[in-house]
Amino acid sequence: MTAHQQRLDALIVGAGFAGIYMLHRLRQQGLKAQVIEAGSGVGGTWFWNRYPGARCDIPSIEYSYQFSAALQQEWEWTEKYASQDEILRYAEHVVDRFRLRDGIKLNTRVDAAHFLEEDDAWSVSLSDGGQITARYVVMATGCLSKPNYPSIPGLDVTQIPVYHTARWPHEGVDFSGLNVAMIGTGSSGIQSAPMVAGQADSLTVFQRTPNYSIPAHNAPLDPAYVRDIKARYADYRAENWQRGFGADFNENDQSALEVADEVRREAYEARWAKGGLAFLAAFNDLIFDRQANDTARDFFIEKISARVDDPELAKKLMPDMPIGCKRLCVDTNYYEIYNEPHVRLIDITETPIQQVTDRAVVTDEAECPVDAIILATGFDAMTGAILDMDIRGIAGQSLKQKWRSGPKTYLGLATAGFPNLFMVSGPGSPSVLSNMLPTIEQHVGWIADCIDHMEQHDYRRISVMPEAEEAWAHHVNEVADASIYPSCNSWYLGANVAGKSRVFMPYIGVPPYVAKCEEVVAQGYQGFNLVPTGAGS
Ligand code: FAD
Ligand code: NAP
Repeated sequence: MTAHQQRLDALIVGAGFAGIYMLHRLRQQGLKAQVIEAGSGVGGTWFWNRYPGARCDIPSIEYSYQFSAALQQEWEWTEKYASQDEILRYAEHVVDRFRLRDGIKLNTRVDAAHFLEEDDAWSVSLSDGGQITARYVVMATGCLSKPNYPSIPGLDVTQIPVYHTARWPHEGVDFSGLNVAMIGTGSSGIQSAPMVAGQADSLTVFQRTPNYSIPAHNAPLDPAYVRDIKARYADYRAENWQRGFGADFNENDQSALEVADEVRREAYEARWAKGGLAFLAAFNDLIFDRQANDTARDFFIEKISARVDDPELAKKLMPDMPIGCKRLCVDTNYYEIYNEPHVRLIDITETPIQQVTDRAVVTDEAECPVDAIILATGFDAMTGAILDMDIRGIAGQSLKQKWRSGPKTYLGLATAGFPNLFMVSGPGSPSVLSNMLPTIEQHVGWIADCIDHMEQHDYRRISVMPEAEEAWAHHVNEVADASIYPSCNSWYLGANVAGKSRVFMPYIGVPPYVAKCEEVVAQGYQGFNLVPTGAGS
């Protein structure tokens, strides 16, 4: 075997929070494991998304690892919602604290992974020509890691500098004195627009779909609050596992339709004053009942009107989809920028972008001269990064082919026909509809325990039973269909990427999901087929 041909127990793709913790767990179990990461540093999301204003929208006290009580006690978050650089420092700290750095190979992509049936192992090809054989492969490639680039004529050849929020230059960008165009008004656009507007000579925002956004009210963390949480961190985490999104949203168990108008309004005002995603837990039916959702929508429409001086402009910023159908955005002064004379909104459903030249973004109506373009156009979510690799399972079946009508998995952890291959936060798991750090830890824990079970009991192969996968896909859709989620063109459905199959990808509900994962194990890995060493396939 040459230096370029390595044999491992487990290969992990991606060094975001999922890959980092996966490496720690597998090493603890005595396995020879390695992470392969395309970027030049660890941290995943927080390594790539360095746009101005980038920060989490789940409070950092919760958006952090809980596997180590010591780490939880030691680390001090400075703000309610930590900034990208602070979260990246945290990821770096974890890697050093648990001595993981030597297990992470940076600047290297996994291009392909082919299952060797005779060997019960994966043959993995790397971008540097390296070849690794591993008994297990864990895809920790991220739900939101493959940027989505719009296909606008001229964009790929323009002389105007173009920056995607998810591929932001490490040295930052100084927009002082520049006329800037921003395309996209999702969470990334809404977080960064006020920062860019604060620097640039002018900002023109090209909006395809208006979004709902609620103030973050971000602030330095109160030391007394932090002391209180730290004194009962384990209990606090345990309580949050019982909550629908795995986050402390202070859920109200009443229907929005069963309370008096004043009571409902008071509840909305209180949540608005507090800010953040917990607004959606003001009542128990906001994401399940259109009429209930309308009451929240009316409230938001009023708030947008109050934040934007020009009523015509305010109207353009008002979404007509149910609130929460696309991920609710969390902002600092987003709507207020439109009250400034140097910020302009162009609704591209009225005046579509025709092309980008070397000096301007050209719409049906006008030429908008700009010096820089920001693409806040999001991601090929949930499946993009996995399908970028040539993954081939039993009988050489390609994953791209298998998922051509949409992804199918069992519990978002594995997919039939691809033995010994696991996914962290795969489609069919709560993933993006949860506080992702805890649910990443839950997935990593499940996978690590499963691999340990295989090692302890001398199994050489684990594969998903097709009927279990079908039943799970059916259940994921059944739950989604009872909600407002499928009613708009969101990235949860793949609707933001041209040609992508429209399938609702995340699973709604952390507690029932975790219970199902536990039950599967308790029933002897129900829905999986475990093949002992020495037995035929
Ligand atoms: P990632 O962090 O995406 O890491 C995946 C890594 O895999 C990347 O570094 C990528 O380079 C690497 N990779 C992919 N393919 C390959 C390949 N073929 N070869 C080698 N390497 C590869 N979630 C929340 O719960 N709360 C939040 O507040 C929140 N804020 C967010 C803010 C932004 C701007 C974005 C984009 C997402 C946010 N998320 C948030 C979701 C976030 O993605 C997750 O919380 C979490 O960071 C994902 O970690 P991960 O390790 O699963 O994936
Ligand atoms: P996004 O929510 O998908 O938003 C992308 C925006 O670009 C949308 O407004 C979209 O319009 C627009 N767009 C896409 N393609 C376009 C095209 N061809 N022409 C014109 N407009 C186009 O992506 P994101 O803002 O990067 O956020 C993705 C997810 O990452 C979030 O939902 C969230 O989960 C996470 N995130 C979190 C935070 C945070 O606050 N912590 C910050 C950033 C991201 P349409 O709506 O019409 O498709």
